[in-house]
Amino acid sequence: MQTAYIGLGSNLGDRLAHLRQAVARLQRIAALVRCSPVYEGSAHTLVPNELSPDFLNAVVEVRTDLSGMDLLEACQRIERDGARHRRVPYAPRTIDLDILTFGGLTCSTDQLILPHPRLQDRRFVLQPWYDLAPETYIPSPIDSTVSAVLASCRDTADLVRTTWLLIQKENEISL
Ligand code: AMP
Repeated sequence: MQTAYIGLGSNLGDRLAHLRQAVARLQRIAALVRCSPVYEGSAHTLVPNELSPDFLNAVVEVRTDLSGMDLLEACQRIERDGARHRRVPYAPRTIDLDILTFGGLTCSTDQLILPHPRLQDRRFVLQPWYDLAPETYIPSPIDSTVSAVLASCRDTADLVRTTWLLIQKENEISL
């Protein structure tokens, strides 16, 4: 069994419903341990903001027997079923799932890089992850904790913590 942290994002259509649907789908293939609060923030993209609506982002902790690659494939199936549009880089996306860490694994293949290569630059990942599990160790090459990486993150994006919940269960963090 490995503990994995997965970052979720949506900025198209009913964004909260897309996040909730993705979490429900993840629960079919992994044990959901807990969910972060949901944050709202402007799109972290190179396209004009009017083309890219605000994102909702959250992080979830799961426990799974799957391999890292199998978990990635499962996440990509959830994205595909959510009809995410992949044709235009940085285009609005129905649902995006990124594996942030997978146990203590470090790897770099064509398909899977762990820890996720851009997590250090993304406050919209680090802030909800910090709320969820601040002392989580992020393996090499980052080799630090979520809280330390957030403290040195230079992304100045404005994020607003919403009161929306991903699931209504006792393992929901509601700060
Ligand atoms: P994106 O469009 O930013 O979600 O990137 C998707 C691509 O990133 C896919 O081709 C994945 O194979 C690749 N990828 C590499 N590492 C990861 C990871 N840790 N989590 C999710 N996707 C990854």
